[in-house]
Amino acid sequence: MAQAGRISHTQLFVGPEGSGNLALALAYAQYVNCLHATDTDSCGTCSSCVKFEKLVHPDLHFTVPTISPYKQSKELAEDWREAFQKNPYINDFDWLQTIDTNANKQGNITSDECRDIVGRLGLTSYEAKYKVQIIWQAEYLKTEGNILLKLLEEPPQGTLIILVANNTEKVLPTILSRAQTVKIPKLQDQEIEDALLAHHACMPQKASDIARLADGDYNLALSLLAVEHDGYFETYSQWMRFCFGGKVDELQKWVENISGSGREYVKNFLGYTSQMMRAAFIYKYGDPKLLRVNEQERQFLVKFSSFLFEHNLSAIVESLDEAVVATERNANLKILFLNLSLYIGRQLKGGQKAA
Ligand SMILES: [Zn+2]
Repeated sequence: MAQAGRISHTQLFVGPEGSGNLALALAYAQYVNCLHATDTDSCGTCSSCVKFEKLVHPDLHFTVPTISPYKQSKELAEDWREAFQKNPYINDFDWLQTIDTNANKQGNITSDECRDIVGRLGLTSYEAKYKVQIIWQAEYLKTEGNILLKLLEEPPQGTLIILVANNTEKVLPTILSRAQTVKIPKLQDQEIEDALLAHHACMPQKASDIARLADGDYNLALSLLAVEHDGYFETYSQWMRFCFGGKVDELQKWVENISGSGREYVKNFLGYTSQMMRAAFIYKYGDPKLLRVNEQERQFLVKFSSFLFEHNLSAIVESLDEAVVATERNANLKILFLNLSLYIGRQLKGGQKAA
């Protein structure tokens, strides 16, 4: 679009979590404002590029979800700059955690913020070819988003508005219809593996394992890399044995251990467990060629899949998803895992009976 000189003034970059849709939005904004852009990239060294890379260009504006008492993104400009530069693949949960660890609060983009956007885009630009407004997590625009409709439809000359979202179904239809949608595909395993090797001193086998687990989500890949873990398999296979075998003292010891491992580890572990449940289902009913598991995991699934059926599998996966949310909301992990273990145990035994 930029090469053809047909830059649509309102665009929506949609891609799954960890796909880099936000990072790409910023790169695009930098590119169209670069003073010495080549056909394929910005120069990275001109005065405009330097300011874009540091997120300090006076014509670059970010709107991000906030939580009370904050009402506008500009109150959090410093925190945002720091969070983005640390990880341009950041998700909304991690961002809201950095401004307030009380994750029970719901983030939002306020009507104050929307009016602020309209006001500042009405002013002439300082120095850039394009004044850029990036609205990250457009899903957070509820009815107050309607304040923006006129602006989105007809922004002032030389203005570029880029909305960034993970899921178009959650974006206000009135906004959706006023933006040109640009789809950002999920990252390939190989791309994630290459990036981990290039930018993080990561051993090849570990990079490959993480890429497979992350399933296209680079933010998740970084989290998996940051939290020391054993590849989760040992912990998982033990858990399933304890759930099913029902030895209470063993199970309790296991629960003690996992509860002390930190919430980040627990979230990743629950995600891994969901993946293994789905893998068991694919092994049993689908095309085994689609399995994304290593040899050790495959051997476990051969036996374990005989306990899984459509009804108990969906119940278990649902309970795991709920456990992730509860973990994010600071639930008591010991109680959570005890209840979850008993539930999964019942489901596995029930599944076998039903068969
Ligand atoms: Zn440049």
